[in-house]
Parts: sequence; structure tokens; C-alpha cells
Amino acid sequence: MILQQLTHDLLRLLYPHLCEGCRQPLTGNEDVLCLACESELPEIDNWHPENETTLRLAGRVPFIKATSFCYFTDDGLLQHLLHGLKYQDKKKNGRYLGHIWGQRLLHNGWVDDIDYLLPVPLHPDKEAKRGYNQSLLIGKGLSEATGIPMLPDALIRVRNTESQTKKNRNERIDNMKDAFAVKNPMQLKNKHIFIFDDVLTTGATLEACATALLQSPGVRVSIGTIGLA
Ligand SMILES: [Zn+2]
Repeated sequence: MILQQLTHDLLRLLYPHLCEGCRQPLTGNEDVLCLACESELPEIDNWHPENETTLRLAGRVPFIKATSFCYFTDDGLLQHLLHGLKYQDKKKNGRYLGHIWGQRLLHNGWVDDIDYLLPVPLHPDKEAKRGYNQSLLIGKGLSEATGIPMLPDALIRVRNTESQTKKNRNERIDNMKDAFAVKNPMQLKNKHIFIFDDVLTTGATLEACATALLQSPGVRVSIGTIGLA
């Protein structure tokens, strides 16, 4: 054990982990971001029921409440972390973001009545290419921080949708319609599900997921994203 710790400390000394924000070496308790950079994250003060995320999704699908952790801006710190997570194999960024987001949600009592965490399933082509679902990694951090179990396979993609990037909002919603289904509706019966994704842009994917979830009897859905674009 002592030898393991020594090896670990020595490796950290030789190859220090650098902050993803300022590239300075991280100290013992820091992970991904140093405390100074962490405090620079553009967190949204959205603990009121009529927050921006709620207004963005209002009227599209029945949900209990919605929230986002930070503003997502081009070339911002959150954009950098999520880009690393999605395209540079920096899996720890996902877990880290999920963890601090989960701490905030827990602290504000937001997740007190949530039964399960449910990540948006990734497009199978993308998952095959990337090798992992970034929302699942965010969910691991969320689950660790809140103690709420995650159901990674409760929602499945039943239709292989086309890529969303070149579509406008209506085309995206059309493309996503009926794309998801609940694997075992009785598992979710009368439960309050928190469905989450990395960034809220059009919300078409979250809307389609929520629509599928609401087919289960008595289910309630709340929605969240790490970033709000
Ligand atoms: Zn830093």
C-alpha cells in the first residue's frame, strides 16, 4: 500500500496533472480544474421554477422541472471541457462535471424527489466511433454526488436517426420523433426520472426522450443539461 502511494506520488511529481483551464499543475484534491478555474465556470443561478431552461422547453412536453448547470459559449471553459470529453477521450471531464453539478443539485434540494437518473442514449454510430457515451460518464459523477441510482439502459434508440447537425429545429424534432422507447415500462412506473444531456441546444433529443418516458404509467420527468447554449 505504502509503495503504491509512493509510486503514485512520484508519478504525479514527474508527470503532474495539469488544470484543463490554466494548464498549471493540480494539487492533491483538485481534479480536472484547479479551484480558481472551477470558480470561473459560468454557473447559472437558476433555482427558481421559471429559469431559462424551463422556459426553453415549456409547452413542448410535460415535465416537472428543468435546470442547466452552466452557460455554454463558444471557446468558453465549459466548451473546452465538453470538447475534450467528446473528441479527445478525456473521460474524466465527464465524471468531474457530473460530480460538481450533482453537488449543486443536492445542495439546493433539487434532486430530493428524484428516483432515477437517466442519460440520453447516444446515437449508436457515434457510440461505436467514440467508444463511450459522454452522458453516461456525466451520469456516473452525478450518481456519485447525489447517491441516486442511474438507469443507463432504460431508454433505447429504436430508430437510427440521421445526424442532427445540418437540420433546422423543426427538421430535428421530426427526425427524433419516435426515435426512443422504454425498455421495461413497469420499471419506471410511478417514478420521477431525471433525464439529462451534455448541452441544451434545440432540446429535440430531450423532448423525444421525455415523450418516450411518459408512456410509462404514472411516470414524472424532469430535465437537465450541463450546458445551456
Ligand atoms: Zn486552472
